[in-house]
Amino acid sequence: MADSRDPARDQLKIWKEQRNKEKPDVLTTGAGHPIGDKLNTMTVGPRGPLLVQDVVFTDEMAHFDRERIPERVVHAKGAGAFGYFEVTHDITRYSKAKVFEHIGKKTPIAIRFSTVAGESGSADTVRDPRGFAVKFYTEDGNWDLVGNNTPIFFIRDAILFPSFIHSQKRNPQTHLKDPDMVWDFWSLRPESLHQVSFLFSDRGIPDGHRHMHGYGSHTFKLVNGNGEAFYCKFHHKTDQGIKNLSVEDAAKLAQEDPDYGLRDLFNAIATGNYPSWTSYIQVMTFKEAETCSFNPFDVTKVWPHGDYPLIPVGKLVLNRNPKNYFAEIEQLAFDPSNMPPGIEASPDKMLQGRLFSYPDTHRHRLGPNYLQIPVNCPFSTRVANYQRDGPMTVLDNQGGAPNYYPNSFSAPEQQPRYALEHSARFSGEARRYDSSDEDNVSQVRTFYTKVLKEEERRRLCENIAGHLKDAQLFIQRKAVKNFSDVHPEYGARIQALLDKYNAEKPKSTIHTFVQHGSHLAAREKSNL
Ligand code: NDP
Repeated sequence: MADSRDPARDQLKIWKEQRNKEKPDVLTTGAGHPIGDKLNTMTVGPRGPLLVQDVVFTDEMAHFDRERIPERVVHAKGAGAFGYFEVTHDITRYSKAKVFEHIGKKTPIAIRFSTVAGESGSADTVRDPRGFAVKFYTEDGNWDLVGNNTPIFFIRDAILFPSFIHSQKRNPQTHLKDPDMVWDFWSLRPESLHQVSFLFSDRGIPDGHRHMHGYGSHTFKLVNGNGEAFYCKFHHKTDQGIKNLSVEDAAKLAQEDPDYGLRDLFNAIATGNYPSWTSYIQVMTFKEAETCSFNPFDVTKVWPHGDYPLIPVGKLVLNRNPKNYFAEIEQLAFDPSNMPPGIEASPDKMLQGRLFSYPDTHRHRLGPNYLQIPVNCPFSTRVANYQRDGPMTVLDNQGGAPNYYPNSFSAPEQQPRYALEHSARFSGEARRYDSSDEDNVSQVRTFYTKVLKEEERRRLCENIAGHLKDAQLFIQRKAVKNFSDVHPEYGARIQALLDKYNAEKPKSTIHTFVQHGSHLAAREKSNL
C-alpha cells in the first residue's frame, strides 16, 4: 500500500529522507532562542495556572493567531508551480518586450491555476471558470498575464464586477450559494451569454489544471522597437490535450478528493511529467480595429481565428513545485498592470478596471510592500525608485540613495526613449456609455451552431437546465428568452427540460415560502 502512494501523499517521507543526511535543527522560538521543552506549558505547580513569563507558549500562540491572511475575494482556491517561458518564434516585429527578445530565450515564470467562486477549501472539480495567471520574471520587471481558461468574460464593464461576483458567491442572509442570485444577474445582463455557454459546456469542468487552455482574455497593445503599436490577444494551448470531467465524475471527486487539481499538478511535476502550453498571439492593426465589425476591446467577444490567425510565440513549461505553499502560492500576487515596455493596456473596460483593482487588493491583503515578498519581487531586475518605508520593509529600503527626484546625486534616472508608453489618441464626450446591448448573441450563436457537436449541445442544455431549475420561475423565463435570442432551438431545449423539472417540484414548498415571506413583510410593516 505504502509503495503505491504518490509524491503528494509521500511529501513528508520524501522530506525526511532528504533531511536524514543532515543533523536535525535545534528547535527555537521565532526570535531564535533554543527551546528546552515544547510539550508542556509553565504552570505554578502541576495543576496551577499558566505564567505570562512562558514566552515559549506566548510566542507560539501569538503567531498561530495570525496565521491566516485575508482570503482572495475571488480565485481563493488555487494551485501553482514554477518553470520557464521559451521563445520559439520571432515576434519582435510586434513587440520590443525583452521576454520575446530572440528565439531560444528563456524567462522564469510562475503560474497559478484556480477556481473563481469557491473559498480556499472548496472542491477543485466544480463547474466554474478557471484562473490561469502567468507571471514572467523579465529583465524589465514582472509581466503578469492574469487570465482564465476562457478567452472571454461574463461582463464587459468593470463597474459591474463587484455585483457580478456577489451574485455568484453567498447569499447575504443564508450564507448559501443562491441560484436566484446567479441567474437573476446573468439574465439581466445578456452580455454574459457567451461565457455562460462556455461554462455549461463540457469545458466548464476541466480534468485538473493541466488539460485546459489559458487565455490572456483581454485585448492588449504590443509596441515594437520602432514605436509602432498593434492590438493583440494571448492564447496558451495545452500540450496535454483538452480533457474534461463528466458531471458525475466531478461530483464524485468533489466528495472523495476535493483537492484533485492541486494533487494532479503536484504529482505530475514531482514525477518529471512537466506540463506545458504552446503560446500564440492574435494581432490586429489599429486600422483594422477602427473598421472591425465588433468592438475589439469587448472582453465578452473573441477575435475569430479566420480573420485573426494564431501566430505561434513560445512555450510555457512548469518544472518546479512550490517549496512552501503559503510562501510561494498563497502570497503570489498577480497584477495585470505589471507590464514591461513593449506590452501595454488596450482600452478594454474590464482590463482598465483590473489595472486598479488587483494592486489595490494586494496592498490590502499582503501589505503595501507586497512586492518585496520573494515570489512577487521582480528578481530579474533591480528595483530602483523613490518609494520608501511602510509596514514590512524587509529589504534594505534602498540604503542611502536619495529619496526624492529630481536630484543631483546620480540616483536612478528615467529612460524616456525606451520606456515611455506608446501615445494613444482618443476623443469623445466624457460620460457613462451604456454597453449592455453590443451584440450579445452572434458569437454565441456561432459557438452553439458551429463549434459544438450535437452531443455537446445536448449536454450544454442539460447542464444549464440542471442549474437554472433551482431559480424562481420568472428568472427562468428571462434566462430562456436570452438563450432563445441566441438560437430558438437553444432556448426551446432548455425550456423543455425546465418544464419537466418544474412539473416534478412539490408545489407546497413554493406556497409555504411565499406565505412565510408575506408574514415577514406584514410583521415588518406593523413594526414601523
Ligand atoms: P474556430 O471555429 O476556429 O475554433 C473553435 C474554437 O472553439 C477553438 O479554439 C476550440 O478550441 C474552441 N472550443 C471548442 N469547444 C469549446 C468549448 N466547449 N468551450 C470553449 N471553446 C471551445 O473559432 P472561431 O475563431 O472561428 O470562433 C468561433 C467560435 O468559437 C467563437 O464564436 C467562440 O464562441 C468560439 N471560440 C473562439 C475562440 C477564439 O479565440 N477565436 C477561442 C475559443 C472558442 P480548440 O483549439 O481546443 O479546438
